[in-house]
Amino acid sequence: MNPYHKVSPWPDTKFFTSFADYNEEEDSKMKTMVAFLGRSNSGKSSLLNAISNQKSLAKVSKTPGKTKLINVFKTDREFYMIDLPGFGYSKASHKEHKDMMKLIDTFLNVSKNLKILCILCDSQRPFPDEEMQMVEVCFTKKIIPVVVRTKADKLNQSDLVQSRRNMEKAMNEIGSPFPVYYVSTTSGKGMLELKTFLLEKLNIQM
Ligand code: GDP
Repeated sequence: MNPYHKVSPWPDTKFFTSFADYNEEEDSKMKTMVAFLGRSNSGKSSLLNAISNQKSLAKVSKTPGKTKLINVFKTDREFYMIDLPGFGYSKASHKEHKDMMKLIDTFLNVSKNLKILCILCDSQRPFPDEEMQMVEVCFTKKIIPVVVRTKADKLNQSDLVQSRRNMEKAMNEIGSPFPVYYVSTTSGKGMLELKTFLLEKLNIQM
């Protein structure tokens, strides 16, 4: 089996910086970037930790909606992982939600070196319109979109088939296929495939 099934191809990832705001000056600090976007509780922190094989790189928050900054992690493989604020939590006020969406929007508009956007969504939930719009934004901005359906260990085989069908329907609706990975940080399902995909698109050798 490939040795990267369990370990990370970028094990020496470290916290780099946080941004409450984003502009060209901030953008010039990072070269190639892979960003991760998802609602609070989508499993984003768990994925960032698992993908880097670290226990607490990103905080697995017990209070959904707490992450309001853009957190940047520097990997040892010539790219940066960008943890975008968790949006869309029902307890966040309308203003908070708007502020977070604005920060995400600014990041997507300003960043010149964003290569891949991983759009996370709990696989037990339907894929929301707002996330679908993010996929479309990627196409217009020439960013590679990757939909990451998290907590896949919670789906049984028929749920999985149904969910895949729904994702295909979404692709047909927008008229463009996009990659979708079903992953679980608890069972390890799909993790190797996702890491391999990211490295391939970044042109980095395993
Ligand atoms: P975030 O708010 O998007 O950063 O989400 P977290 O990473 O904090 O995860 C939210 C909750 O989902 C936590 O209780 C995690 O333990 C749980 N979780 C995350 N990933 C998985 C997974 O792959 N499988 C299962 N069963 N639970 C998960």
